[in-house]
Amino acid sequence: MSIDKIQNSADCFEREPDMMSVRSARAEIRALVEPVTESVTVALRDALGRVLAESVRSPIDVPTHTNSAMDGFAVRRADLDGTPPPTLRQIGAAFAGHPYAGEIQAGQCVRIMTGAAIPRGADTVVMQEHTEAHGDDITFSEVPRHGANVRPAGEDIARGQIAMTPGTVITPAALGLLASLGRSELRVWRPLRVAFFSTGDELRPLGSVLSRGQIFDSNRYTVYGMLKRLGVEIFDLGLVADEPQALRTILRQAASIADVIISTGGVSVGEADFVRSVLAEVGRVNFWKIAMKPGRPLAFGNVGDARFFGLPGNPVAVMVTFYQFVQPVLRYMRGEHEHAPELMLRARCLTPLRKKTGRTEYVRALLAEESGDWTVRRTGPQGSGILNSMVRANCFIVLADQQGNVAAGEWVDVQPLAGLI
Ligand code: AMP
Ligand code: MG
Repeated sequence: MSIDKIQNSADCFEREPDMMSVRSARAEIRALVEPVTESVTVALRDALGRVLAESVRSPIDVPTHTNSAMDGFAVRRADLDGTPPPTLRQIGAAFAGHPYAGEIQAGQCVRIMTGAAIPRGADTVVMQEHTEAHGDDITFSEVPRHGANVRPAGEDIARGQIAMTPGTVITPAALGLLASLGRSELRVWRPLRVAFFSTGDELRPLGSVLSRGQIFDSNRYTVYGMLKRLGVEIFDLGLVADEPQALRTILRQAASIADVIISTGGVSVGEADFVRSVLAEVGRVNFWKIAMKPGRPLAFGNVGDARFFGLPGNPVAVMVTFYQFVQPVLRYMRGEHEHAPELMLRARCLTPLRKKTGRTEYVRALLAEESGDWTVRRTGPQGSGILNSMVRANCFIVLADQQGNVAAGEWVDVQPLAGLI
């Protein structure tokens, strides 16, 4: 079940009045963004991971000719109806790329390899394993149905058929299909440009010597990784101090180059949290407290034409809010047509979990298969700064708003990370 569905069915819990559900926040954000409208032409291989911007109609039948699915003998099926075991005379051979030139007459057969064109006159292929050769006389120990082991021309894609529509993500399978149509170039949507930066006076770039109270800026690396997987064009704008003037400058700079701006940190209500106020000054801001854990505060708005996401600073909260809010929007903005519902499994939870009603909780966990059932265990302490539990996780346990504590052995919803990244 998708998170949306889970939350749909749950309006009977207590929630702080100024809190917004994950579902409503996602819907509000979605209503405020548009997909890119410009496309570019790229070489087929460069389209991997990009989003198709055209309808691809096949100029040919794939496969181009009716061919054999097996190594064996091409026959006229009616010739095998006589007294068993039927025997036919081999008159030649057909190889892939080297068709048999003649036509099969009554009582004849042609040795044929996988992919070779079916000779004129033949309608069926008998697999090699069901035949025995005595010189040119071939005896058939089993008689297949009419048309067996024959792949008709156009069975994959027929000439003139629409093979792919705009919004399709070019996967390895899509590359292969397009190549089979002979396409060497494709029109794809231009890449989405995403700029990101970290905020916080305590943060230092890698390579620094840390003083007391300082930490390395790790969020910029997780955000980079999550964006890279989405195939967007990335602008890493670095680290910004907790200082309104610096924030103003970087937001304006980011808006001049990017479609989407992402920041981490500085969106809470602490005295050094300026993202919200500066955004209100240079652009427009919606600030939400989301009924979720981790990842409560989220700022969304725009600076000029660029959309802005202000994610919280805690490293796990960054990842959870990115996957729940930013990633679906970026996929929509980069032109993907509605993707399949989020992959959710039901698994037996082996660790008891404490859970407050009124919010969605995402618990880092390990999904496994044990004697035919999916089981799931929490990966240790869940503090929103404990990235280690995320590294060791292969899924989130998703506990919907109305869910209370979970007893060991209870079934829970699980979102595999493999479906997200
Ligand atoms: P904030 O949202 O700015 O209050 O930050 C919340 C917590 O996340 C604080 O403990 C920060 O030190 C930490 N944090 C913020 N930004 C980063 C970052 N880029 N890398 C690692 N930790 C961060
Ligand atoms: Mg901060």
